[in-house]
Amino acid sequence: MLKGIGVSQGYGIGKAVIIGDISTDYSNVKYTDAESEKARLQNAVDSFIEETKKLASDIKEAVGEKEAEILEGHIVMLSDPFMISQMQENIDSGSIAEKAVDTVCNMFIDMFSSVDDELTNQRASDVKDIRDSLLKALLGVKSIDISTVPKNSVLVAKDFTPSMTSKINKNNVSAIITEVGGVTSHSAILARAMGIPAVLSVVNATEIIKDGMQIITDGFKGKVITCPSEIEIDKYTSLQNKYLKEKESLKEYIGKETVTADGIKKAVYANIGKPEDVQNVLQNSGEGIGLFRTEFLFMDRANEPTEEEQFEAYSTVARAMNGKEVIIRTLDIGGDKDIPYLHIEKEENPFLGHRAIRYCLDNPELFKKQIRAILRASVYGNIKIMLPLVTCLEEVKAAKELIKKCAEELNSEGTQFKNVPLGVMIETPAAVLISDLLAKEVDFFSIGTNDLTGYTMAVDRGNANVSNLYNTFQPAVMRAIEMTIKNAKKAGIQVGMCGEAAADARLIPNLIEWGLDEFSVTSGSILQTRKTICEYKQK
Ligand code: PEP
Ligand code: MG
Repeated sequence: MLKGIGVSQGYGIGKAVIIGDISTDYSNVKYTDAESEKARLQNAVDSFIEETKKLASDIKEAVGEKEAEILEGHIVMLSDPFMISQMQENIDSGSIAEKAVDTVCNMFIDMFSSVDDELTNQRASDVKDIRDSLLKALLGVKSIDISTVPKNSVLVAKDFTPSMTSKINKNNVSAIITEVGGVTSHSAILARAMGIPAVLSVVNATEIIKDGMQIITDGFKGKVITCPSEIEIDKYTSLQNKYLKEKESLKEYIGKETVTADGIKKAVYANIGKPEDVQNVLQNSGEGIGLFRTEFLFMDRANEPTEEEQFEAYSTVARAMNGKEVIIRTLDIGGDKDIPYLHIEKEENPFLGHRAIRYCLDNPELFKKQIRAILRASVYGNIKIMLPLVTCLEEVKAAKELIKKCAEELNSEGTQFKNVPLGVMIETPAAVLISDLLAKEVDFFSIGTNDLTGYTMAVDRGNANVSNLYNTFQPAVMRAIEMTIKNAKKAGIQVGMCGEAAADARLIPNLIEWGLDEFSVTSGSILQTRKTICEYKQK
C-alpha cells in the first residue's frame, strides 16, 4: 500500500495510465532561415491558442468559469507582444524557434519565481506550461491524450499542469494520483471540482505503479493499493457504491433547515482551509463557516502572505457567504504544522511547545498583520475571530489588547471595520477546566476534539502503541465536552464543535442533549450531519 494525501473524496478503482514526461529535446533541430523559423513559431503559437481556447470552453462547461480562467490566462500571457517579439529577436540572432521559446520562457520563469508572492510564483508555472506546449507543437510530439483514456482509468503523473487536468474526461477517469502537491494545488482544486477521487504526494508513484496495473485509490484516507486482491476489490467496490448511493440520497438535505425531530434548531457549518473551498460549502448548503484554518494560507509558499493577500482571502470568503457567519481562526502553527520560512525552533515536544496562540503573541508583527486583515475584511460580511490552543485567561486578554491596538490603528488611518466578536477554541484540558472563566471573556466557544482528545488522554495519535487511547468516547473526553457546553450555556454564549467528532453520528445525540449549537464539519459531511440531526428525537 502507498500513502499520500487524500485531497478529493471517493474511492477510485481502475487500471493505471502513467502520464510520463515527454522529451522536448531539440538538440538535433537545424536552423534554416529566420523567415521559416518565425513562420514555425507563429504556427505553433496559433495552434496553441486555438487548442487552449477550445480546452477553456470545454472546461467552462464541464467544471466551471473559475477553472477555465487559468487557461484563458495562458492565452493572455502568450498574446503579450513583448513575449513574442523577444522570441522573434532571438530567431533574428540565429536561434531556432525551439531555442527562442525556451530562452524567452525561461527568462519569464526565473523572473516570476524570484518574486516573493504566491500569485506571481503561480505565473511561473503557467509559463512552464506554455513553454512545454509550444515546444511539443514545434517538435510535433504528442503527449498521451488524457481526454481519450479508456473508462476506469487511474491517471498517475509526477504532477498535473492545469492544461493536463483540464483535458480529463471525468466519465472515464476513476482517480488521480500524483507525486507532488497538496490540498491547495491546482490538481486538487480541479479534482474536487470534478468530483474525482485524488491522492497526491505519493512518493515515486510513477515508478512504483506500472502502466495497466490494477489500482484502488482511497481519496478519504489518502491510500493507494496496487495489484489488489479480489477481496479488496470487492470491499472497495461496495464502499464506492455505498458512498455514491448515500451521496445521492443526501441531496434531499440541501437547503433544508437543521432542526431535530422534536423541533430544536441547530446549525451545520463547514471547516475550510482556502477561499476556493467555499464553493463546496455553498453547494452543500453549509449554514456558515465554523472554522477557517488560516494556516493553509501560509503553507506551500516561500514567504509570509502579506496583509493585503490575507485581506483578499478573508473578504472573499465573507462576501461569498453573504452574511452567514465566518469564524476565522488565527494562525495555528507548530505541532505537526511546520512552516519553514517562519523558522520555528526545533523543540523536544512540539505539541507542548511554542505553537498557535503562544507563537502569535510572541510575534506581534505577524499576528497584527493577520488581525488587521480580518478586521478590514469584516465590513464584507459576518466575521468572527477565534483563538487556537488557549490555556489561560492571560492569552485571551493579551489577544484582546492586540486586537484593540489594531482597531485603533485602523481608526486613525480612516479604514473601515466592524466590531468583530471573539471566541476561543476549547482544545486543551486547561481551557475546559477554566471554561466558566473563559466564557465571561469571550463571545463563543468551539470545541476542537482533534486536539482535545490527544491532550486529555495524554496520547500522541501518531503512536500506534497507544492509538487505542485516542478515542473521543473515553469518559474523560466526553466529560470535558459536556462541561464545556454546560459552562457556555450557563454564560449564555454560543458553543460549537469544529473537531472531526462533530460529524460522528454516534456522538451527535449527546451533543444535542448537552446543548451544542453549531456543528462544523468538512463540506462533504454537511448533508450527512444535517440528516443525523434532523432524525434525532429525544427519548
Ligand atoms: C481540533 O483540534 O479539533 C481542530 C479543529 O483543530 P485542528 O484539527 O486544525 O488542530
Ligand atoms: Mg486543533
